[in-house]
Amino acid sequence: MLSRRVFLLRRPLLSFSPRFAQRLHTTPLKMSNKSESEWRAILTPEQFRVLRQKGTEAPGTSAYNKHYEKGVYHCAGCDAPLYTSDTKFNSGCGWPAFFDAIPGAVVRHEDNTLGMKRIEICCAKCGGHLGHVFQGEGFDTPTDERHCVNGVSMRFHDK
Ligand SMILES: [Zn+2]
Repeated sequence: MLSRRVFLLRRPLLSFSPRFAQRLHTTPLKMSNKSESEWRAILTPEQFRVLRQKGTEAPGTSAYNKHYEKGVYHCAGCDAPLYTSDTKFNSGCGWPAFFDAIPGAVVRHEDNTLGMKRIEICCAKCGGHLGHVFQGEGFDTPTDERHCVNGVSMRFHDK
């Protein structure tokens, strides 16, 4: 299972060595050392559903969807900085969209649920589910990637 997971990751800069695979596999789990009840105590029910149970907020409902203040979007679970306002763009998709994450802030996993092949993105620090990355859609951005992030998974800091 471990090797399968690694081969499905799309990160050209990553090595596919078994040692690295193990590190990738364990990091989010190790860092997220809170129990379910501890997470429930610090998150709202909707944050818990999205961050810890990989839910998706309804499109168009996040206050961050069309939010373009200068600042940094942090993980709503562990407060790690995830995205800067400089990488946010209007994708029209109904969720906050970014063309790149702060380096090292998010990890990617292949997600084959719902009969689709998608790339899930999670907070590298606590493993919280953020959303998905879509590539090659033709957006006029430096990466042509759309990090489609649930607003409820983030907390904006204006400095
Ligand atoms: Zn986090």
